[in-house]
Amino acid sequence: MSEAKKVVLLGATGSIGESALRVLRAHPHRLQLVGISAHSDAQGLFAIAEEFGVKDLCLSEKVSEVPPAPGNATLRRGPRGLEELAALHEADITLVAVVGSAGLLPTLAAIQGGNDVILANKEALVVGGKFVMEAAREAGVRILPADSEHNAVFQCLQGVPEHDVDRIILTASGGPFREFSLEQMASVTSEEALAHPNWSMGPKITVDSATMANKGLELIEAHWLFGLPAERLDVVIHPPSLVHSLVRLVDGCVLAQLTPPSMTFALQHALLYPDRASGVDKSLDFSEPLDLSFAPPDLQRFPCLRLAREAMQTEGIAPTVFNAANEIAVDAFLRNRIGFLDIPAIIEATLNDTQHRDPKNIEEILSADSEARRLAMEKLRD
Ligand code: NAD
Ligand code: MG
Repeated sequence: MSEAKKVVLLGATGSIGESALRVLRAHPHRLQLVGISAHSDAQGLFAIAEEFGVKDLCLSEKVSEVPPAPGNATLRRGPRGLEELAALHEADITLVAVVGSAGLLPTLAAIQGGNDVILANKEALVVGGKFVMEAAREAGVRILPADSEHNAVFQCLQGVPEHDVDRIILTASGGPFREFSLEQMASVTSEEALAHPNWSMGPKITVDSATMANKGLELIEAHWLFGLPAERLDVVIHPPSLVHSLVRLVDGCVLAQLTPPSMTFALQHALLYPDRASGVDKSLDFSEPLDLSFAPPDLQRFPCLRLAREAMQTEGIAPTVFNAANEIAVDAFLRNRIGFLDIPAIIEATLNDTQHRDPKNIEEILSADSEARRLAMEKLRD
């Protein structure tokens, strides 16, 4: 067997991080963890470092008091430290599993450092997709999707020529409020939004799933990964979360990829690509009845999905602004400072107050991101 692939895992202490570690544990001869980050949880980071014998570490939040790193490990600090770790020369692949637009610069750093990238973080593509994809082409590195829908599409597209693809249809569970009226949604709490029916995930993406902003972000992510225009990207509600997405070909045939709702399948696929090995979770059991129902989404009750689609069609900085306003609003909702329906209201107001333009470089993306955050913060106070 060939040498083990050397993996850097950014966001090792999160929900995706945890699933990725399960895959790494199961395949020690194929995958070797060489670098890990956490934002502020030093104890959690050091425990992973000890278990996997990792020598390159980073705490991306500059906290003042940090206990010494175990053994002779190198502990990097802050966002620059995270970029350095992302580009670790020794590594073959960098798995970006940090949350939010904080994933953008480390993703670019990994690409520029010549590492292949596995993206669980979708915000990097939403915010700076044009520049991330350009940089990957220039550096000749691969971007593999670990988001379950995009990983499913990637798998369905193997061996399919581009001109045979008609549309990509992303599946969505619909979240905990799938059947709620707007009136009911007005009074839901953060605890209710955090109780996702199928997936156990970090708090930000769990709220994004409840508002369906997540599916909106994923439409934009799919646009950059697969190069299809907005009008050939669809969303369908599929409450059991077994079909992870669909690809319709020009002749009308529809391809799908199915697994139980666990991120280990997509993560293992991306980590071992193009090889395969036994999975760490049980596959689907067809001796039981399986529900594979599909229904169209309701854009009226889920305005975040409509707003994301509009931002995707507007192009330029609109997706960056959509994402920034969403991050601010979700954070405020999680702190119980605003209501659930204030999330789309803040996004819409921020988009309306933005002077739309085409960003020429990553600096212009970063300034659009901070400007949108400032605008969205102002709306919180209104
Ligand atoms: P999480 O909140 O559970 O974990 C986030 C990780 O990133 C932690 O290790 C945390 O320490 C670190 N982190 C937090 N803020 C940071 C910052 N500002 N800079 C650097 N690191 C930071 O989140 P998650 O659910 O694991 O999601 C991670 C990413 O993967 C998100 O972009 C999410 O949309 C995407 N994703 C998650 C799932 C899932 O099942 N959880 C599925 C698909 C895609
Ligand atoms: Mg997803």
